[in-house]
Amino acid sequence: MARSLRSRWFTRPLLAGLATLMLLLMAGAAPAWADYALPPLPYAAEALEPVIDATTMTIHHDRHHAAYVANLNAQIGANPRLAELDLEALQGQIADFPDAVRNNGGGHWNHSQFWTVMAPVGQGGTPSTPLLKAINASFGSLESMQTAFNKAAAGRFGSGWAWLIRKPDGTLAITSTANQDNPLMNLSGIERGTPLLGLDVWEHAYYLRYQNRRPDYIAAWWDLVNWSEVNRRFAAA
Ligand code: MN
Repeated sequence: MARSLRSRWFTRPLLAGLATLMLLLMAGAAPAWADYALPPLPYAAEALEPVIDATTMTIHHDRHHAAYVANLNAQIGANPRLAELDLEALQGQIADFPDAVRNNGGGHWNHSQFWTVMAPVGQGGTPSTPLLKAINASFGSLESMQTAFNKAAAGRFGSGWAWLIRKPDGTLAITSTANQDNPLMNLSGIERGTPLLGLDVWEHAYYLRYQNRRPDYIAAWWDLVNWSEVNRRFAAA
């Protein structure tokens, strides 16, 4: 009995002190541990049928994209600067970070972009007058731009992305990146610019419906392009 009372007298202030210390540490650490988050799909998984099937969309978003986000967050401990950078700013400084950040940070930005530049068939609108003017100036016509884009997408060996970008000089260009790289990254060998439209040509993006027929996926995908979002990105570039 006496021992128990003595123990309580001793431990209560100690526990209170520890709790206060923990609260102070958590308050100090909270901003440095802000995680990256998986954005929800802006439409139902089946909304892009028949061009992209619901199963592909679900696996692509809920597993592939979710894994890039989780793996990027797992890098925050070893790379505390990550907690101070938003996802887009990170792309421009990616050379300062290890490959795990490059692959997963790129994967997170690329897919966040990808969901928004697609819309259900018939709901994507059309290129704005200013965008069409810029496309015509750089490629001659919308069809020529699409032909160049298709060639870059089909010609990317292995996994990667095809892009329509606005270059720093104001002209538009088609480019392609490997793996989860993108045109915002400050890496040698990357043609840099503001991405207006990016297409995922990893097999996980199309294999269930198109198997090895990547060109068929690319051709069908134009029916999904959300020109309203591409117009917005062009106006903001
Ligand atoms: Mn993907």
